[in-house]
Amino acid sequence: MQEPFSIAIDGPSGAGKSSVARAVARELGAMYLDTGAMYRAVGLYMIKHGIPLDDTRQIAENCRFADVSVRYEGGRQKIYLAGEDVSEAIRTAQASLAASSVSVVPEVRRRMVDLQREIARGHCVVMDGRDIGTHVLPDATLKIFLTASAPVRARRRHSELLAKGMNEPYEKVLRELIQRDETDTRRSASPLRKAEDAVEVDSSELSLSEVVEKIVSLFRAIERGKK
Ligand code: C5P
Repeated sequence: MQEPFSIAIDGPSGAGKSSVARAVARELGAMYLDTGAMYRAVGLYMIKHGIPLDDTRQIAENCRFADVSVRYEGGRQKIYLAGEDVSEAIRTAQASLAASSVSVVPEVRRRMVDLQREIARGHCVVMDGRDIGTHVLPDATLKIFLTASAPVRARRRHSELLAKGMNEPYEKVLRELIQRDETDTRRSASPLRKAEDAVEVDSSELSLSEVVEKIVSLFRAIERGKK
């Protein structure tokens, strides 16, 4: 039987982390956990309950009522809020900004990190986020810091939104992405940064399959080195 392993993939919004992490997990027969989806679900909870997104005290007090859970259906991760499937609802631009706001609150982070570690325990897992290599899984088998230039990331996000029928102007997508980068790197609780032992992969000029291949071969080299 395969010994449990973990791969941490961190990086800024729109670097392609979730597509890459999902494909790497499939290739290696591991479970994929999208941690951003969990912060988005907490953000959605605050929106639904009329809690102002700049009121960190109220967010901290109320986050324990946000009943977030992750289920796997047909091999895909689904995210539930109080028993309701919110996997689609968390993908709006409003939910993105809400996720970024709630993720600066230490109480929210503590709850999400506990849940992430609990889900990962004893499994082969590929997890993507902002603080996976630095905080959630400090002993991950392999840590990747996936980047791409801001315009490349905004173009990708813009096309994704268009494909879903959401017609946001490119300039707005770019502006919001830069704003999220700022919030994510400047916050004091687990800011986005590359772990010292992470391998940086710039995906600006690479296709999805090239990035996946690179990560899988890095992982296989580590596994071979253990034998
Ligand atoms: O990855 P995604 O864009 O879905 O993440 C939404 C937001 O959740 C990010 O902008 C970030 O603020 C937050 N996040 C985080 N830590 C993680 C994953 C996401 O703070 N591990």
